[in-house]
Amino acid sequence: KMFNELQDLKGNIRVYCRVRPFLPGQSGRQTIVECVGDDGELVVANPSKSGKEGHRMFKFNKVFGPTATQANVYSDIQPFVRSVLDGYNVCIFAYGQTGSGKTYTMTGPNMASKDTWGVNYRALNDLFQISQTRSNVIKYEVMVQMVEIYNEQVRDLLSSDGSQKKLGILTATQSSGLAVPDASMHSVRATSDVLDLMDSGFKNRAVGATALNERSSRSHSILTIHVRGTDQKTGTALRGSLHLVDLAGSERVDRSEVTGDRLREAQHINKSLSALGDVIFALAQKSSHVPYRNSKLTQVLQSSLGGQAKTLMFVQLNPDTTSYSESLSTLKFAERVS
Ligand code: ADP
Ligand code: MG
Repeated sequence: KMFNELQDLKGNIRVYCRVRPFLPGQSGRQTIVECVGDDGELVVANPSKSGKEGHRMFKFNKVFGPTATQANVYSDIQPFVRSVLDGYNVCIFAYGQTGSGKTYTMTGPNMASKDTWGVNYRALNDLFQISQTRSNVIKYEVMVQMVEIYNEQVRDLLSSDGSQKKLGILTATQSSGLAVPDASMHSVRATSDVLDLMDSGFKNRAVGATALNERSSRSHSILTIHVRGTDQKTGTALRGSLHLVDLAGSERVDRSEVTGDRLREAQHINKSLSALGDVIFALAQKSSHVPYRNSKLTQVLQSSLGGQAKTLMFVQLNPDTTSYSESLSTLKFAERVS
């Protein structure tokens, strides 16, 4: 069965690296990528050291180089997504500095063009398709929530009244899967429903963007797909969920250069990303204590991190030599958890 492969994962955590291509207008620039191996190896070169001395190898479950397409990426994670219909909780993240391709991977550049759809649209499409083919056996219901975490506050991106109220979080034991019960829940029947919803969610996120200057890169956005299946013969129910997380930019902010709101944002991002790293590290080590409580991000995702849940992280890299030190710190984050 297709999911045996998934059960063999070490701690159910997978780390994929994706290197974005240079953008139009960036031709002729130097890359830090020395080599992408078939076996999940990535060799990066330190631009200020020559030859082998500056080379460093990192190992992942898989590396997607600059020419990998959205379809290539999705086909690799498809079994994870589909396992949600069997009652698993799955969490997929994109981690990396601003501009490294997190949103491209998770959402894509333009939802009007299907070819470049990111993970979230493809996942929903796939879930709808599979649930159709199983509908004689199991009847599925699909619901979505979409929240943003900014400065350790959770906001509903899909609330109909556009309210910006802060939402509370329930712990995993209280919640039976619904970490943010007050975020609006939207029942969806087809990918087109979701396209409209997500469009409005992204617009809500963008409201802050003008006011707060690219806020989207400084907040975490979480699209949660809840699935409930009912066996048509026995009436047995199952539940699964898929969290799709576009994390805030991981770039380090120079403390000597920012103050006030910007510094506070940076501290919150730092704190939540390191809390995430600590949780994934503890899970990968099979540690008996997993520190979920240290950030809103890890609290919201608790039921999808650890236990039977499957976690998949995209580590995103900007190939440019000017991003070398950020890329290295991204790679070190990944190395610790993989
Ligand atoms: P982030 O969300 O990490 O800040 P983006 O996803 O916005 O980064 O990507 C930055 C830019 O690079 C965007 O213009 C995006 O369209 C482009 N880009 C990122 N990844 C790819 C890719 N794999 N192929 C083509 N363009 C990409
Ligand atoms: Mg982005």
